[in-house]
Amino acid sequence: MGPQSRGESVLHLLDSAEGLNAGDAIHGSLDWNRRYALMRLHTALHVMDAVVVKSHNNGQITGGDL
Ligand SMILES: [Zn+2]
Repeated sequence: MGPQSRGESVLHLLDSAEGLNAGDAIHGSLDWNRRYALMRLHTALHVMDAVVVKSHNNGQITGGDL
């Protein structure tokens, strides 16, 4: 299960908490290939949005969460 946004927090939900107890140390890792692809797409949306807004004086994208 992927992370989910809740306001300004990001939740990393588990399919199962079996074997985990409150206070246990955990280790997380980031899939940098996926993260970098999402960052590039996000930036491309900003560029495309700026072009559309400038050429049509309208069309601003809101909520670019990926
Ligand atoms: Zn942005």
